[in-house]
Amino acid sequence: MLTTTFARGSAGQESPTGSSSTATPAKVAASAENRDAETFLFEAERFADVAVLRYRVPGFDGLDRRTKTLLYYLYEAALSGREIIFDQKYRYNLAIKRTLEEVFKHYPGNRDTADFRALVVYLKRVWFANGVHHHYSNDKFAPGFGFAAFERFVKATPGRFPLRAGQTLDELLADLEPVMFDPSVDAKLVSKGGADVLAASAVNFYGPDLTQREVAEFYAARSVPNDPSPVSAGLNSRLVRENGVLAEQVWKVGGRYTEAIERVVAWLEKAHGVAENDAQRAALAKLVAFYRSGNLRDWDAYNIAWVADTESSVDAINGFVEVYNDPLGMRGSFESVVSFRDPEATKRINAIAAEAQWFEDRMPILERHKKPDCTGIIGRVITVVIESGDASPTTPVGINLPNADWIRQRYGSKSVYLANIVEASDEIRHGADREFAWDEADAERSTRWGRLAAVLHTDMHEVIGHGSGRIDAGVGPMHETLKNYGSTLEEARADLVALYYAIDPKLVELGLMPSVEVGEVEYERYIRGGLQQQLYRIVPGNDIEEDHMRNRQLVAAWVYEHGKPDNVIERRVRDGKTYFVIRDYQKLRELFGRLLCELQRIKSEGDYDAIRDLVERYAVKVDPAMHAEVLMRYEKLNVPGYWGFIGPRLVPVERGGAIVDVRVEYPADFGARMLEYAERYAFLPTWS
Ligand SMILES: [Zn+2]
Repeated sequence: MLTTTFARGSAGQESPTGSSSTATPAKVAASAENRDAETFLFEAERFADVAVLRYRVPGFDGLDRRTKTLLYYLYEAALSGREIIFDQKYRYNLAIKRTLEEVFKHYPGNRDTADFRALVVYLKRVWFANGVHHHYSNDKFAPGFGFAAFERFVKATPGRFPLRAGQTLDELLADLEPVMFDPSVDAKLVSKGGADVLAASAVNFYGPDLTQREVAEFYAARSVPNDPSPVSAGLNSRLVRENGVLAEQVWKVGGRYTEAIERVVAWLEKAHGVAENDAQRAALAKLVAFYRSGNLRDWDAYNIAWVADTESSVDAINGFVEVYNDPLGMRGSFESVVSFRDPEATKRINAIAAEAQWFEDRMPILERHKKPDCTGIIGRVITVVIESGDASPTTPVGINLPNADWIRQRYGSKSVYLANIVEASDEIRHGADREFAWDEADAERSTRWGRLAAVLHTDMHEVIGHGSGRIDAGVGPMHETLKNYGSTLEEARADLVALYYAIDPKLVELGLMPSVEVGEVEYERYIRGGLQQQLYRIVPGNDIEEDHMRNRQLVAAWVYEHGKPDNVIERRVRDGKTYFVIRDYQKLRELFGRLLCELQRIKSEGDYDAIRDLVERYAVKVDPAMHAEVLMRYEKLNVPGYWGFIGPRLVPVERGGAIVDVRVEYPADFGARMLEYAERYAFLPTWS
């Protein structure tokens, strides 16, 4: 599971204006490098609705040679798999990307025209989204140029275009015309609505002629009733019809994507050779074994070994992990996040993790849904070196893995908070929270505590949120029971745990915040985010599709409605602007607790009808009047709708064939960096 609190996340989760003077533990940890931060240019460029940022890797230079070498190998392993996500998302993505890259590199004509500039923006959007669908709304981009111009550019460019065997350039163009220029063709990357979610989704996890029902039957026939350790069925394959029967094309060495996976494996094997300790070595060996076999039991064995590796400084997530891009919630998108630990800031997250049982015991959920043994939750704060695949350029700010519930319950899970990513995200905050605050006192409070409130929310969401609760005996995994509503439920559940405890004096007692005022600020941010601010990312007329956004509106709208009799949250209007003002924080806390209890019940019992009704009633539809108002208010704020990152470059310094040092560089040109990737890591065939 991932948290998208800042980097991809909603305005509601954003910190307030500018930099707060609050010395949060994370800030203290980074203070030694504050001088660098003052001169470091965080924002590289903006186009369409996004900003491209850079992040620093504080502490890298001071690492020893072996650690730097290990990070370098994992960096190469991460980037070697980066193109997989393009093909996973849409079967034409690699062809479009490569065609546009050729034009971008070699077009000899005048580039200073409206059409060419539009083509460059379109290509940047494709790079940013890892494909032709918006990374957040999932809607296909409309190119700002026509097919005739595209055809002209391609034909005038002496490039090497990604033709199929025997295909002419005209035939390639004919293939791409509807895909790029007809808005009705594959309009939605992932759609959770409609009669058949597969028919409505362009994602390339299933053969084009498969129905949702067939897929469900395929896996139902293979699921083992009451299996205490079910594999993550479908996680690492594409499902297609071959000779009339359904079959999985497994992503592994020798299978689909082998060209990239072999490179990933080669770098992982090098990393294995310089591992820090036995636990890390064992985990890397099991990851390699999984990539070689494609066997999902090997994936589970790897995850168990990865959870057991608690002492290492260096960590890598590398694999088919999150299932948000699959409308059926089964298939994992390739991603990698390579990092090392920030020991000071880790103390904060561990202060929460150490009390996990205390929190679990006091949760407002049914006794039978509480976990009796919460010992396995590991939280840490990390410094990100590189991200790839689905984690880049947009990135989560918190990650909690593994995703298999039975492994989490038996072996625990690890949570990370991506501190240097959050630092960079903070740099482009503008006055959005101030705009939605009721008065000056409100705005001041939000400025003072917003950052700390958000940090604690993310920590609790990951460490005691996702990690909490248990499923009733005999109830299957969420993707079977709650299907397309599972991810929304799980994110809401984790948020509600964090919200329920946000104003608990326990956090003051633990030294995590100076007063419960911090938690009250989080309540304000959350309510305004869920009811108003996040709407600025939605195109007028559209429903809310993304799980985290659905979750926030579900929670905020539900407590608003259920608090009405007691006027818990007051809706006020001044000068034509709507404000939500919290009148009773304790009652609001109780409402969060009630909804948490219900969502945990739904998860534990696998009550599909209940979650469908909740999500469809509260989380999907947008109030058009409020939406228009929010868009108008944001227009003045100069806040980019989304942001993502150009990753740093690691450069090995070699002497006599051995790595003696690794240098970190910070590229500032998004296009140049993307072309560099395209040249170094284009291992996959365009058509497969
Ligand atoms: Zn989450």
